Amino acid sequence: MTGCPAWCVGDHDGERRHLAEIQGVYPAPSDGDAPYAVFVDLRQDPREDRPTVYVHLDEMPVMQLPPADAVDLGWALLELGLMGRER
Ligand SMILES: [Zn+2]
Repeated sequence: MTGCPAWCVGDHDGERRHLAEIQGVYPAPSDGDAPYAVFVDLRQDPREDRPTVYVHLDEMPVMQLPPADAVDLGWALLELGLMGRER
């Protein structure tokens, strides 16, 4: 595969799509609950004009966002997280 964008990890493993991914594992929200994992990745098939951000909670797809909307959501989460953690 040639022409990977800068963000692509470049390990296509037989797949055509470009990929970058981030995984976070978070503790259980309350006793008795299992920890959960959030997977966020950026994918783009070479036939597509632009990449899409995918969000998965454990194995379940949660949402797909254009990169600009993902940035807006990320900023909103950052603002709320910073507000909420202040003591
Ligand atoms: Zn690539």
